[in-house]
Amino acid sequence: MLPSPSRPPNGTFSCPFGLVSQRCHVSLELLSGPDGELPDKLRNLEPRLLEHISNEIMERDSNVRWDDIAGLDHAKKSVTEMVIWPLLRPDIFHGCRSPGKGLLLFGPPGTGKTMIGKAIAGESKATFFSISASSLTSKWIGEGEKLVRALFGVASCRTPAVIFIDEVDSLLSQRKSEGEHESSRRIKTQFLIEMEGIGSGNEQLLLIGATNRPQELDEAARRRFSKRLYIPLPSAEARGWIVRNLLQKDGLFCMSSSDMDEICSMTEGYSGSDMNNLVKEASMYPLREALKAGKDIGKISTEEMRAIGLQDFRAALQEVKPSVSKCELGAYEDWNSQFGSLC
Ligand code: ADP
Repeated sequence: MLPSPSRPPNGTFSCPFGLVSQRCHVSLELLSGPDGELPDKLRNLEPRLLEHISNEIMERDSNVRWDDIAGLDHAKKSVTEMVIWPLLRPDIFHGCRSPGKGLLLFGPPGTGKTMIGKAIAGESKATFFSISASSLTSKWIGEGEKLVRALFGVASCRTPAVIFIDEVDSLLSQRKSEGEHESSRRIKTQFLIEMEGIGSGNEQLLLIGATNRPQELDEAARRRFSKRLYIPLPSAEARGWIVRNLLQKDGLFCMSSSDMDEICSMTEGYSGSDMNNLVKEASMYPLREALKAGKDIGKISTEEMRAIGLQDFRAALQEVKPSVSKCELGAYEDWNSQFGSLC
């Protein structure tokens, strides 16, 4: 057990074991109150865990906004009501209007679940804590539950706060009586305890879990996420928006609206991140062509490349295939009709 942070008379903190780490010093100060003191809740937590949370898990400025996310109007509306308004107006959202404890975002990979988590933090000005559950179980063997306790402790001192747990299934999967590692079991238990505690005080703290494998969640975990929102593959319109948005960043494209319609109809079944990959691949053809014609990669300017066109997308479609199969989609839809929230 590491000692608690030593407290020099001037009220700032230094790391234990003579680790004169400027980083540790700074990150602990970030968690301190205006008086330079660590809040009571954090005093018994290990400084290196607090440091890790402050440096690696806590994001101070999320710059994602709703407008950066294509489509998903239903999810945006529902999340605004359930999460953003209560974070902005806790005085209205109490009693029978008190917000749910946890939000589960589920659906195929690359559909914007992480973006929604960041947009919630960005739109509500909440502190955003983001961690992948698989890193908790793999990197913090034997210590994961301490990190979980520290994470919820820090978040409750930095409210309004959003804790976003990616791949939450790897933490809260159905109990495997045999084979489940003792340390994973302890992390899971600690996590369920912390989840149970959310909302018991007046803290504006929201937990968001994201998963591509909702079927793996056990009943106890499922119950604790009071809202379970399906984040599906993007519609044709949303796919078109993603393409236009990415191309407009560079400006060098030449496509009519019927070209865009063709791209949208050819990309049925593509996720948002598949669309990203497609645009990247398409944008490589003009460069490859210029290099083939003798241009030098060290000297070429973007003006010397032709604009990206429909033919590049046609070629890229041969290379970039959708990452989600029809059969997987069917499984998400089944789970949604059984456990998903309608609004
Ligand atoms: P998930 O968490 O669902 O696996 P992400 O939110 O990490 O997926 O999305 C991965 C990337 O795919 C994003 O960084 C973004 O570039 C793109 N993307 C996915 N969905 C959308 C969307 N709805 N609108 C805009 N971009 C998207």
